[in-house]
Amino acid sequence: MSGHELYEKTRKIKREIKSVLLDQSIMAGIGNIYADEILFASRLDPRTPANHLDEHDCDEIVAQTKRILQGATRAGGTTIRSYTSSLGVSGRFQLELKAHKQEGKECPICKGTIEKIKVNQRSTYLCPHCQKRK
Ligand SMILES: [Zn+2]
Repeated sequence: MSGHELYEKTRKIKREIKSVLLDQSIMAGIGNIYADEILFASRLDPRTPANHLDEHDCDEIVAQTKRILQGATRAGGTTIRSYTSSLGVSGRFQLELKAHKQEGKECPICKGTIEKIKVNQRSTYLCPHCQKRK
């Protein structure tokens, strides 16, 4: 999927972008851990309505998704989970977590504090300073 395709797909979706990333019909293969890491890397608040994202945001989400899933594949080691994604990446991997399950820890970018919230019943971790809500 390209950023442009994600942009087109989300024009009428008012749900939070986190929920959209977890929706198997839209971005297959992204689990809860990756969704948090992708949105952290994209500097987007997980509660942002999907239709508020601009095309640049969508490009960033797709680029970060590929980067994180591919980096995770290369990392090897302890398997957290197997996946097959709609982006043509599949494998087993270990991920260096910057946001997920890091509540109370220091944000590696701004040195603020990572917080835990709920988005559509799912535990969600974010840096409220770095990740902008649109
Ligand atoms: Zn931060």
